[in-house]
Amino acid sequence: MYEFAVTPAVTQIRRRGVSITEVAPGSIAAELELEPGDRIMRVNGRVVRDYLDFRFQSGGETELVIDVRKPTGEDWELNIERDESEDLGLGFEQIVPRQCANECLFCFCKGNPETARPSLFVRDEDVRLSFLYGNYTTLTSITEDEMRRVIEQRLSPQYVSVHATDLEVRAYLLGIDRERADIRAKMRRMLDAGIEIHAQVVLCPRINDGEILRQTIYDLAALHPGVRSVAIVPLGLTRYLNDPRLTAVTPDSCRRTIEEVSAIQKDLRKRMGTTFAFLGDEIYLKAGQDVPSRKHYGEYPQIEDGVGMVRAFTSQFESMMRKLERKDVSVNAASGTIMTGTLFAPVLRQMINRLNQQSGTKLKVVAVPNEYFGGDVSVAGLLTGGDFLSARPEVSGDFVIIPKVVLKSDDAIMLDGMRFEELRQKFDVPLHACDFQDLVSTIEGRLN
Ligand code: SF4
Repeated sequence: MYEFAVTPAVTQIRRRGVSITEVAPGSIAAELELEPGDRIMRVNGRVVRDYLDFRFQSGGETELVIDVRKPTGEDWELNIERDESEDLGLGFEQIVPRQCANECLFCFCKGNPETARPSLFVRDEDVRLSFLYGNYTTLTSITEDEMRRVIEQRLSPQYVSVHATDLEVRAYLLGIDRERADIRAKMRRMLDAGIEIHAQVVLCPRINDGEILRQTIYDLAALHPGVRSVAIVPLGLTRYLNDPRLTAVTPDSCRRTIEEVSAIQKDLRKRMGTTFAFLGDEIYLKAGQDVPSRKHYGEYPQIEDGVGMVRAFTSQFESMMRKLERKDVSVNAASGTIMTGTLFAPVLRQMINRLNQQSGTKLKVVAVPNEYFGGDVSVAGLLTGGDFLSARPEVSGDFVIIPKVVLKSDDAIMLDGMRFEELRQKFDVPLHACDFQDLVSTIEGRLN
């Protein structure tokens, strides 16, 4: 989710070079007596600002001159010879992200309770994180240095929040002036240099939907194939994000958007051979409609943004069910509860009911309302420890599964600060955090 890649920002300050955090035993780095806390300042005479620089400047080089500063202030110069594929065995501190200077109407930071963890308020706008983790940037404040770096180091693809190509509307949504909102030349420069872009539109009813959305999609389609895809995801209002200028996304507005965008998709598929503009799963689910077929999504270019996740999962589930049916086996008499967000629960429940019928399992799907953020937040990834606790009375069976995505990627902690271990202790049956897709893969694997 949005915060995980940027957590260290609140605990680190920018210093020159990049700090080593790990040295693999028996590696070249260990032989050279490098240690956690040492900072790499230069590689082959070129300044290193972060681990991306290190990777870029050392990649493919068999002879390296590395300038290291020890915590004592002592400077070392190391001359290294290695095979091209030989890893140095170093782990580095995470990147400290650049922050945005926008005031977006719908900024997720405004949607957090005041007590939320500091990392949830980090407004990252960093082309490095865009390349590494698929975080979106608006490109409004990209510096010349960053632009050159994207091009020189081939930080492609970039994920760009466009929202609207109409400058007036984009400036309004981002809370900035038209001049800063205009990123046409910046996008052109990236595309001309061969950097690919995946665009995003956060759909705000009555602001950038309808004709503005149509224009945005066609303007971006004119930049295809450099612009690879556009993800259109709905605005998410929480109880804290209730700006009167924003209108909630409703089942009706979702149905309207699907109808309008379907016609555009059809046209684009005919002319470009790709759907190109994809609606987020949430829009179909809120509209009460089935998500499109697997073919619609092609290579699932923006699945991490919730575009095609449901189809990818149902396809995988169907494949598992076919194997189960062919083999006509009972998996086991597993009896337990699967918790998920209210949006996905009805879809998952249908699938799990089929599994129960086919294999004799007694699994129950519980839709967990999001009380922490409130509003219309219904996705699984934003559920918190408190939300799961409130759903405890619905538990049945011998175990409970919650979606792994609710945990921070490098620490078993949830968005309300509750640790997984603490939550686990409050349940009478074993609690597991699982990626549903991994679960299906495991069952499928056993059937092969
Ligand atoms: S770009 Fe907008 S939505 Fe993203 S962090 Fe900045 S203000 Fe918030």
